[in-house]
Amino acid sequence: MTSALIWFRRDLRLADNPALTAALESHDRVVPVYIHAADEESPWVPGAASRWWLHHSLKALDADLCKRGSQLRIACGPTLQTLQRLVKESAATAVYWNRLYEPTITARDKQIKQSLIDTGIDARSFKANLLFEPWEIRSGQERPYRVFTPFWRKARSQLQVRPPLPAPDTLDSPGNDQGLSVDDLELLPSIGWDSQFHDVWKPGEGGASEAFEDFIESGLPEYASDRDRPDRQGTSRLSAHLHFGEISPMQIAWALEERVQQAGDSARTAGAESFLREIGWREFSQHLLFNFPHMPERNLNPRFDEFHWAAEDRAAIRRWQQGRTGIPIIDAGMRELWATGTLHNRVRMLAASFLTKNLRQHWHHGQRWFWDTLVDADLANNAQGWQWTAGCGVDASPYFRIFNPVTQGEKFDPLGNYVRRWVAELDTVSTALIHHPWTDPDVLQATGYPAPMVDLSASRTTALQAYQDLPKADET
Ligand code: FAD
Repeated sequence: MTSALIWFRRDLRLADNPALTAALESHDRVVPVYIHAADEESPWVPGAASRWWLHHSLKALDADLCKRGSQLRIACGPTLQTLQRLVKESAATAVYWNRLYEPTITARDKQIKQSLIDTGIDARSFKANLLFEPWEIRSGQERPYRVFTPFWRKARSQLQVRPPLPAPDTLDSPGNDQGLSVDDLELLPSIGWDSQFHDVWKPGEGGASEAFEDFIESGLPEYASDRDRPDRQGTSRLSAHLHFGEISPMQIAWALEERVQQAGDSARTAGAESFLREIGWREFSQHLLFNFPHMPERNLNPRFDEFHWAAEDRAAIRRWQQGRTGIPIIDAGMRELWATGTLHNRVRMLAASFLTKNLRQHWHHGQRWFWDTLVDADLANNAQGWQWTAGCGVDASPYFRIFNPVTQGEKFDPLGNYVRRWVAELDTVSTALIHHPWTDPDVLQATGYPAPMVDLSASRTTALQAYQDLPKADET
């Protein structure tokens, strides 16, 4: 009887799981293991909303394993020593896992693999969470890409979609478990800030496929036009499921291809291509992080190292975090984030632009807040999103393009429904005023909603001046 450990990390699914399939093909028994070692991810230890998701996702995985006759063995790190102990206890000859690509994790995993191999263990890792390894797509000069469009053009032309690997129907019992329970990991917040999360999310592989099915049925045909509308349910809301590996990008690509062929209608085809392109942005973020591992900490565009950020203003940052800036669409987004652990991509851009440009606070302040409060907090996507919006990334929105949250609100939330949903004080304000209630002082007085914390036009001018003061590209 041969046994292999399958070391689950952020691949919390049974279908299309290459490490699990490979372990099952070559061993009589697999022992599913999760090792909690958050400090090994320092300085990017998962934030509070992420831990909430992880708690429920681990429970869901354990339940899915139990249905098949197995169960998840849970332990705490240090990871290498724990793996070595579990190998011994279960008389395993192999440890298989799916790759992650964050710099700290890659370095740790490399060491773990070598140490296991040195003691005669068959240690193997697999590609599971991306369509392309972050080193696979290279420019003509064999360099990593720095701009999304050519990156995606190349990646898209090389994409070979394959059917997903099936989940096993049954699994052997992993033997007696004297390990920990998910509750023992104490991942849930001690204050009841997550009370609304359950209404919005269903972590786990089952929740991921339900969300994806719903989206394919109702969201996909209109995705290309609705994806920018925070007042509509126009996007898939799959980002946390993808981050925790409850669904794979290959499952998504395969299902899109199948449905498009079946349906043959042009809206669904356009929606599918547009949606796949967003999955492409996720690939690009991982590509950037792998090739420029300092991305979460340092400006990708070194010119911005000279940028004159305003002095750190804790009170202003706090108002932004709490959704009390006096700019309705920003406040709606920041309140939605606090209540549900997410906010719409368009509003992420607006909130990030307001913090880094109108308030001229360093993008690190926003990145850290999102890291702690987003259920989909992802090192690569978050750093990429902040650098893109702040203008200091490689393929960034130019700094001088400063979003105007009033006109953006009018364009993407034309009736003000998104604002009214999240900013209760503005519930009764007319559509004509909803995105700039300060233009009628009576409205502010009647609703108690704050006046804008900065003048949008003056702060824009100051930001542009600070940008003008940057050394030009050829001076760096
Ligand atoms: P859909 O529109 O349905 O897109 C499908 C999938 O494509 C998403 O689930 C996501 O995996 C990927 N995707 C979509 N847009 C992007 C993008 N711009 N960059 C990378 N991948 C993308 N996304 C995260 O997953 N984690 C983060 O921590 C994160 N932080 C962000 C911070 C800022 C400042 C900005 C501007 C964007 C950030 N994003 C982040 C990207 C994007 O906002 C979310 O992925 C998206 O809003 C998730 O909603 P959805 O699943 O409904 O997206």
